[in-house]
Amino acid sequence: MAAEAPWRFFDLHVVRAERLSPHMARVTFGADDLGGFVSGGRDQRIKLFFPHPGQEETVVPRSPEDWFGEWRALDPDVRGIMRTYTVRAQRAGEVDIDFALHGDVGPASRWAGAARPGHTVVALGPTLADNGGVEFEPPAGTGSFVIAGDETALPAIGAILDWLPAGGRARVWIEVPEPADRQDLRSAADTEITWVEPGTLIDTIRAADLPADAYCWIAGEAGAVRGLRRHLVNERGYDRSAVEFMGYWRRGAGEEQLLAESLAGQNPHTGED
Ligand SMILES: Cc1cc2nc3c(=O)[nH]c(=O)nc-3n(C[C@H](O)[C@H](O)[C@H](O)COP(=O)(O)OP(=O)(O)OC[C@H]3O[C@@H](n4cnc5c(N)ncnc54)[C@H](O)[C@@H]3O)c2cc1C
Repeated sequence: MAAEAPWRFFDLHVVRAERLSPHMARVTFGADDLGGFVSGGRDQRIKLFFPHPGQEETVVPRSPEDWFGEWRALDPDVRGIMRTYTVRAQRAGEVDIDFALHGDVGPASRWAGAARPGHTVVALGPTLADNGGVEFEPPAGTGSFVIAGDETALPAIGAILDWLPAGGRARVWIEVPEPADRQDLRSAADTEITWVEPGTLIDTIRAADLPADAYCWIAGEAGAVRGLRRHLVNERGYDRSAVEFMGYWRRGAGEEQLLAESLAGQNPHTGED
């Protein structure tokens, strides 16, 4: 029997849209077949496809064999606008995605800021918990965590803290645009959360005492993530394998450019070969 594919398309509709803070919107989605959507939790990533202004429906080829090739072959002005997001939470029949709002320059940010019940997007989402879209994978028995990111990583950090078991210890640094964007994050683990101002993430961590045996996870703006990873590996001496790092966006480059660089064999985090 063929193995079940770990991803497929879901037609999502907005059930609720709420403004969590000045720069964060939570959109709760439903779908007829959401029972088949199986998040792996933690920093589970998914692809969302947004309609262009004026389109009634998002255009996404559904062929399971080569949806990506078919999507790329379509006119960029017509095909759904593809972006990457994190599953903040899943309940029976509902999935929450938290969108950092950075103004109208980004189609996804613009869409989220105006989302209303009944609006639709298409998701490429997981159908199995073990789907290859989760990066926070500490070795069994890890008890100490260093977690850092900006507002785009805040949904993943919230979901990671939801997942950490009692007995774990997490030192967490989160950079948000303004103090009103801080959230009340819960965890069974023993957590110490430090909220930092824009542009101060690396310097704040540089000045902190860190547990030497920690598993580290960092995500956010690519340049900041690169600098922080360098600090943890080169200056603090963490083993490379103990530092998970992901550029979630890059200043001055939309996701189309990052995708084009990645297809051209460049590092999408730096734009270099
Ligand atoms: C694995 C993964 C998980 C992610 N999870 C989330 C998530 O759960 N929530 C979330 O909000 N984001 C998340 N992101 C980041 C999100 O995909 C990007 O911010 C994306 O660029 C937003 O698309 P856009 O259409 O709004 O902007 P784009 O069209 O991609 O970019 C337009 C311009 O806006 C800039 N820009 C993009 N994001 C920001 C920002 N946050 N602040 C300031 N300027 C920005 C770009 O540099 C560019 O100049 C994730 C990214 C990855 C790779």
